[in-house]
Amino acid sequence: MTKLTTLAAAGLMAVISVGAGHAQEAEPAIRVTLLGTASPAPRPDRSGSSTLVEAGGLRLVFDAGRGVPVRLSQKNIPVGAIDALFVTHFHSDHVSGIPDLWMTGYIPAPYGRRETPFRVIGPRGTGEMMQHIDAAFSIDKTTRIEDEKITPESVAMDVSEFTEEGVVFDQNGVTVTAFTVNHGELIEPSVGYRIAHDGHAVVISGDTKFDENLIESSKGADVLSHEVAMARPELATQPVQSRILGHHTLPAEAGEGFARVAPRLAVYTHIVMLSTQDIPEPSIDDLVAETRTTYDGPLEVGEDLMTISVGEKVTVERLAK
Ligand SMILES: [Zn+2]
Ligand SMILES: [Zn+2]
Repeated sequence: MTKLTTLAAAGLMAVISVGAGHAQEAEPAIRVTLLGTASPAPRPDRSGSSTLVEAGGLRLVFDAGRGVPVRLSQKNIPVGAIDALFVTHFHSDHVSGIPDLWMTGYIPAPYGRRETPFRVIGPRGTGEMMQHIDAAFSIDKTTRIEDEKITPESVAMDVSEFTEEGVVFDQNGVTVTAFTVNHGELIEPSVGYRIAHDGHAVVISGDTKFDENLIESSKGADVLSHEVAMARPELATQPVQSRILGHHTLPAEAGEGFARVAPRLAVYTHIVMLSTQDIPEPSIDDLVAETRTTYDGPLEVGEDLMTISVGEKVTVERLAK
């Protein structure tokens, strides 16, 4: 049994349940699947930061943190069936899965199967990172070419770097526009992406503090997928934790942004919940309550493999548990 939440255009929310095999509606303009909703914290229920966006017959992945190939396999998507990977910034929780996505993708098994170069698009620094990944794993590449007769094209990379905001991808009627976000003075470049297709748009915030450019770049979007960070009040003021929170958006700040953008659905991903041995992390209810101090529109707290279909309706489907 799969639970479906349907959000009407008016922002009203109804929960309906459909049985397995129930006919889906017409193909949505854009389908978003949260592959990983974690912070850097290793945990089984939330993989590293990553979002799959399907539109115009393309599969685009935004960031590749820990565990992305596993989440793709749970969706029956071969790792090699990704058309392009987009990078928001270079923090390890957003890029540690890239070598796995690249190398598992070129294995000629049902779960791999990529026969064309691995396409990666990202801000300044992406080329250097990919060169080093290529060098770090050159033994695997060379061995498999000789031993398993994999073609040099399958293991190759096709990397594009951009230095300015604007359209960075335009194919099959799908445009991806990069915009800068503020993840802190030293964590730069850091970008978010707006993906548009067939009159609809989805925005992925990337990692950012409260940022006017994100709000401006999100105007008119159907879905705003947003990072968030939180700690209990007694922990939030500690030096280490306040520095971390200072690089991210607090729930009440995110709510302010949601209220100004008024998307058809706001969804949290990259959920940073700080804790120490003595002070537990806040709960999801705490996160929602804080957000509700500034925003009363449609909101979902992301979970791994949550799928959001965007078309005439915005429909949310959670992984059956
Ligand atoms: Zn970051
Ligand atoms: Zn992050």
